[in-house]
Amino acid sequence: MTKPPMLTAQQALDHLLSHAKPVNETESVAMQASLGRVLAENVNSLVDVPPLDNTSMDGYAVRTADAQHSGNLLKIAQRIPAGSVGTTLEPGTVARIFTGAPVPPGADAVVMQEDCSIPEGLTDQVQINAAPAVGQWIRRRGEDLMTGKVALTAGTFLRPQELGVAASAGLTHLAVKRRVKVAAFFTGDELALPGEPLKPGGIYNSNRDTLLACLKSLGCDATDLGIVPDRLDATKAALRKASKDHDLIITSGGVSVGEEDHIKPAVSAEGRLDLWQIAIKPGKPLAFGAVRKSDDPKAGEAWFIGLPGNPVSSFVTFLLFVRPFILKLQGREAKQPQFYMMRADFDWLKADRRNEFLRVKLNSNGGLDLFPNQSSGVLTSASWGDGLVDCPPSQPIKAGDLVKYIPFDALLQ
Ligand code: AMP
Ligand code: MG
Repeated sequence: MTKPPMLTAQQALDHLLSHAKPVNETESVAMQASLGRVLAENVNSLVDVPPLDNTSMDGYAVRTADAQHSGNLLKIAQRIPAGSVGTTLEPGTVARIFTGAPVPPGADAVVMQEDCSIPEGLTDQVQINAAPAVGQWIRRRGEDLMTGKVALTAGTFLRPQELGVAASAGLTHLAVKRRVKVAAFFTGDELALPGEPLKPGGIYNSNRDTLLACLKSLGCDATDLGIVPDRLDATKAALRKASKDHDLIITSGGVSVGEEDHIKPAVSAEGRLDLWQIAIKPGKPLAFGAVRKSDDPKAGEAWFIGLPGNPVSSFVTFLLFVRPFILKLQGREAKQPQFYMMRADFDWLKADRRNEFLRVKLNSNGGLDLFPNQSSGVLTSASWGDGLVDCPPSQPIKAGDLVKYIPFDALLQ
């Protein structure tokens, strides 16, 4: 058997992303239901926000020309609470005004009430104690959003603050991309579901819960097709079932080239497959291909990504490769994950020839600590950790070095 090509993480990712095409279908959903979805169209504002020039302070709307001398006494000619509109400010007068109320025509500044005083015995006059600058404490009409202008762009992942922007633009519903449909199954005769008794040599299927939860946090519609035994016919049957109603199939395990690894022949029989060795640790084998939806070529294909079985490897390869692929299917920008240059408070002198992703935790001194056991089978390293250090090939780390730190949070949304 010819050895699969060894790719860098970037080469593998570029290859994956060159295939991914955004789903086309969109749906209109009520604002609260759009959280975590991807905007399918630009949102144009229906209104100006704020709707009129208004005050950001409780105080007095003034004509600055009337209030240049500290100690000026000016007549309080009107009172404008939020939700009301005043009348033109006559020279020599001011308006009592409250946060959010429109500044009346003629006024060109607001003096906050802390800079004013009402002389004893007077109720309708105010003394301005600090000369205002033109425009002071005035929020301009449309400074946040303008009618007809883009408030949110297509492809935006909707977080709470985007829902608020859309609401202030006057929308009740948003056009979003349909959810990406992903089927997952897990290969291995040794696997059992938690709650079931373990036979000798058996282990619980942890990848199921890790990977399904990863899919959910990315906003996918995830289908669990369960544990599939290490047999070619069973693997092929699971692929056929998974391809029907899904955009993407992901699996764990069975992607090495051992006798018990049936992913490669099964996907090759049901579609097409590339098996890659990626020069990363943990990770290494990754399978990428497509599975026919039926014998009719017009029915199309579902994408296939086969992850390694070791729990840390499948988690890390999901974050590094499957996530950006899904982002692109969702119509989002699959940009490089956010990283920070942080100080390593550990030594990692036995650098591997592969690009390593070390599980680390932020410490209270503003540096990073390393989990002592970096084995790809030790999933507690990932739950202990806050993120990954992307360690270039053959580059040892000494305490005090700055390293590239990618928080898990940035990879799970
Ligand atoms: P494989 O990639 O199938 O050769 O599996 C590599 C290692 O990962 C083996 O030790 C498996 O027992 C383990 N493994 C495979 N699938 C899972 C799973 N779903 N949950 C936990 N461990 C797994
Ligand atoms: Mg296996």
